[in-house]
Amino acid sequence: MTGPSLKLTVLGSGTSTGVPVLGCHCEVCSSPEPRNNRTRCSALLEWGGRKILIDTATDFRQQALREGLDHIDCVLYTHAHADHVHGIDDLRTFTLRTGTAIPIYAARGVLDRIQGLFSYIFSETDAPGYRPRLEVNEVRGPFTLFGQVVTPIPLVHGPGESLGYRIGNLAYVVDCSAIPESSRRLLEGLDVLVIDALRFREHDSHFTISAAIEVARQLQVPKTLLTHLTHDIDYPRHSAELPEGVEFAYDGQTLTLPSPIAQEP
Ligand SMILES: [Zn+2]
Ligand SMILES: [Zn+2]
Ligand SMILES: [Zn+2]
Repeated sequence: MTGPSLKLTVLGSGTSTGVPVLGCHCEVCSSPEPRNNRTRCSALLEWGGRKILIDTATDFRQQALREGLDHIDCVLYTHAHADHVHGIDDLRTFTLRTGTAIPIYAARGVLDRIQGLFSYIFSETDAPGYRPRLEVNEVRGPFTLFGQVVTPIPLVHGPGESLGYRIGNLAYVVDCSAIPESSRRLLEGLDVLVIDALRFREHDSHFTISAAIEVARQLQVPKTLLTHLTHDIDYPRHSAELPEGVEFAYDGQTLTLPSPIAQEP
């Protein structure tokens, strides 16, 4: 027996500024190539008819319009940096229509940060309609979501941390500058890896392109998408330089892979 198929949509492949960068007139920011146009980093996973959003990026509304999203069943948060969270208010359009709360999942510290930044959302006094209705869930380890095991992957993100997520043989690993050994073991046997690969030059809080490629090589992943990209990457030009099995993610990109049957965590 095989489980339902697992589909990934890259909602946003860009770094925190998005590309084009405001006020920048470089070749990539001025490029007519659609794959050089990058909204803030986010992804949509679908299995069994459910839509699972990873992060509510600053550009969430535009991403949802572009992909024709009319509901969300759940949100998994990686961390609480602005580019991954600031689209949260637009969830209210969905919860207003359905009348049901959307479950959100994150590590304790991320939930605390979100609840502090957006206290109006979690206030009991504000009228519903002006805020999204969200049901808060703390991620402490693997959990079952709509029949699939979701495995959190603890990551080093500069001086902070974030959570990647693995579902079946797909892992989504942003934002990160290092992967602890205990987390690497959770990434064995992947079919698809989506990984933070900011730019060519070093950065304190993100993998470079070559570091991300090295992670994919060590894990022997057959297909890797590099995401959270800056305007240093010119999609057509730099794609030609990537090794086989590695490509730059782009907004609106989709792929479907068979996912295994759920196991109890
Ligand atoms: Zn980010
Ligand atoms: Zn630029
Ligand atoms: Zn970040």
